[in-house]
Amino acid sequence: MIDTHAHIFLPDYSEDETAMINRAVDLGIRHVLMPAINPESVAQMEAIAQVNSRSEGIKLHPMIGLHPCDVYEQIMIWGEHRWTQKLENWLQEYASLSHYIGIGETGLDYYWSKEYKKEQMLSLDVHFELAKSVNKPIVLHNRNSTHDLLQTIAKHQNGSVKGVWHCFNGTYEEGMRAIDLGFHLGIGGVVTFKNAGVAEVVRQLPFDKLILETDSPYLSPTPLRGKRNEPAHLAFIQKKLGELFELSQEEVEKQTDLTASSLFSL
Ligand SMILES: [Zn+2]
Repeated sequence: MIDTHAHIFLPDYSEDETAMINRAVDLGIRHVLMPAINPESVAQMEAIAQVNSRSEGIKLHPMIGLHPCDVYEQIMIWGEHRWTQKLENWLQEYASLSHYIGIGETGLDYYWSKEYKKEQMLSLDVHFELAKSVNKPIVLHNRNSTHDLLQTIAKHQNGSVKGVWHCFNGTYEEGMRAIDLGFHLGIGGVVTFKNAGVAEVVRQLPFDKLILETDSPYLSPTPLRGKRNEPAHLAFIQKKLGELFELSQEEVEKQTDLTASSLFSL
């Protein structure tokens, strides 16, 4: 199994990091993809990757990006003068390293920080340009910003851009639009929530465009909703997809692993 989106480098796991990774290994998780949030993430990801090199059977892969909810705070640190250039330089430093397998996470979030729309857009553009130049997939966050996000993907799609709309929670039409634009959809714990309506949408989508993710430490699936999430909880998401598509757990695992491996060149 592959958890395509987990922030397991965060201090949420400082007490039981090794046990958490061992639980993922025991469940059969072979790869965990770690989207960066901000510059602090790089040191945190490198630190947990040290553990990775000692543990058997699992690979933790870093990515490089500035989360839309961290854009404003980072501008305050870098200063408003030429901040997009500083962002580009910072991303560039890691993006071409072979073990950084993707660009993200980036995207738009109008729920938490509507007032910084323009800055989030500029940051997203920088990430897209970089993803194109290094030819790596881009990981997109979206909250209350679907229209602008889809427009931005369309604007940048030159035939070579690939990536994932992570924690997909759109309508069927929005999901299909993203797929038509060459994107994959990351399916997380929300698909297990009873009243979210996401499951009804997901079951209509093409199965070979879906990849699994936990978004740890957030969005723990039912029956652990509200608790700290971790990669081992991917089992609940995989089970739910099996129910929705009437597939065995082996079939879900085989196809989603294949899709994720090919998207991220694992
Ligand atoms: Zn995330």
